[in-house]
Amino acid sequence: MTFPMTEEQALIRQTVHEFAENEIAPRAAEIDAMDAFPHDIFQKMAALGLLGIPFSEQYGGAGSDYNSLIIVLEEIARVSGSVALILDAHSSLCCEPIALFGSEAQKQKYLIPLARGEKIGAFGLTEPQAGSDAGATRTRALRDGDEWVLNGEKIFITNGTVADVLVVTAKTDPQKGTRGISAFILEKGTPGFRVGHEEKKMGLKGTATTELFFEDCRIPAANLLGQENQGFKQFLVTLDAGRVAIAAMALGLARGAYERALAYSQERVQFDQPIADFQAIQWMLAEMATDIDAARLMIARAADLRSRGQRFIKEAAMAKLFATEVSERVCYKAIQIHGGYGYLQDYAVERMYRDQRLCAIGEGTNEIQHLVIARQILGR
Ligand SMILES: Cc1cc2nc3c(=O)[nH]c(=O)nc-3n(C[C@H](O)[C@H](O)[C@H](O)COP(=O)(O)OP(=O)(O)OC[C@H]3O[C@@H](n4cnc5c(N)ncnc54)[C@H](O)[C@@H]3O)c2cc1C
Repeated sequence: MTFPMTEEQALIRQTVHEFAENEIAPRAAEIDAMDAFPHDIFQKMAALGLLGIPFSEQYGGAGSDYNSLIIVLEEIARVSGSVALILDAHSSLCCEPIALFGSEAQKQKYLIPLARGEKIGAFGLTEPQAGSDAGATRTRALRDGDEWVLNGEKIFITNGTVADVLVVTAKTDPQKGTRGISAFILEKGTPGFRVGHEEKKMGLKGTATTELFFEDCRIPAANLLGQENQGFKQFLVTLDAGRVAIAAMALGLARGAYERALAYSQERVQFDQPIADFQAIQWMLAEMATDIDAARLMIARAADLRSRGQRFIKEAAMAKLFATEVSERVCYKAIQIHGGYGYLQDYAVERMYRDQRLCAIGEGTNEIQHLVIARQILGR
C-alpha cells in the first residue's frame, strides 16, 4: 500500500522544506538556547499560510487537506521540534475543535484570525489531578445568566503565555462524570483568567508551557463550544487527529537526526577511513532509514483515513506509538554515530534527542496508546 502525494501536497512539501531550511533552521539552536517564543517565525509561518493549512479558505485557512498539515509538521520538525509543537498546538489542538464543533459565529470570530495567524491558539485540557485521566477534570463552569463562571486550573499548556484564544475544558455537570464536561473558547485578558509561570523543560524550548488559572472567570454563554456536556467526546476526537500530528513531529525529528548522522558518517574519518565504511555504522544507518520509512507509511495511512472521513482511531494510536519510539531510537543512534561530538550542544542531534522525548508523553502517553489500540482490537 503506497500513499503517493498529490501535486498540491508535493508542492507544499517542497515550499515548506525550503522555508524551514532558510528561515527556521538558522534560528533553531538560538530558540533552544534562549528559550523564548519565536514570534518572528510565527509571523513568517502566518505569511506563508501555514497556520490554517487544513481549514477552508472561507475561514481564513489554506483550504488544503489534513495530509498536508502532517507534511508541514514533519518538514518543520526536521529542523525545529519547538516550532513544530507551536504549530501543532495552534492548529491541530486549538483551531481544529473550533472548526469541527464551533458555531458559524465562533468560526467568524475566532477561527478566521487564528487560521490567518493574526492570533495564537492554545488548548487547555490537562490539570494537576487530570493527566492521562482527563475525565478527572476539576475545573468547574457554572452557568450564571448569560455567562459561564470558571474556577480551576490547567497545567502544561503549550502556547499558554502567548495565546490570544484558548479552548479549555471544564465540568458543567459533575454528577455525570465524563458526560458532564464541556469545552469553552476563552480570550486572553478575560477578567479572572491568569497565566502562571512558564515551565523549564528538558527540550522543546521556546514553546511556552504554562499553568492557567481561572478565578471567577466570566465568559459569555456564547463561548460554549458545541453542545453542553459534549466536551469529553470533543477532545477525544481532537486528540485522535492530534496523535497523527505529534507522530509527524516525531518523524520529522527522526529524519533531521538521521540526515545529520548520514552526512557526518561520511565526513568523519577514523582508522584512515570514513566511519560510514564500518559495518556497525552502516547497520545503524540501515535501521534508522527502515524505521523512518515504516513510521512514515503508518502516519500517511492514518492521515489518509482521516482525510477520507473514515475511522482511524486504531491507526492514529499505532502511528503515534510507533513513530515516537522510532524517533527515540533514531535520535539515540544519531548521537552514537556522532560519538562524543553528538553529546555537545554544538551539534543539532543533541537538541533533537531532547526534543523528541515529549512525543511519547504529550497528547496521550504511549501507555495510553497501548490501551487505545488494545480496546480497538478487542472491540471494547
Ligand atoms: C511539554 C508539554 C506540553 C504539553 N502541552 C499540553 C497542551 O498544550 N495542552 C494540554 O492539555 N496538555 C498538555 N500537556 C500535558 C500532557 O498531555 C500530559 O503530560 C500527558 O497527557 C500525561 O499526563 P500526566 O503528565 O499527568 O501523566 P500521568 O497521567 O500522571 O501519567 C504518569 C505515568 O502513568 C502512566 N499511566 C497513567 N494512566 C495509565 C493507565 N490507565 N494505564 C497505564 N499507564 C498509565 C502514564 O503513561 C505515565 O507513564 C503537555 C505536556 C508537556 C510535558
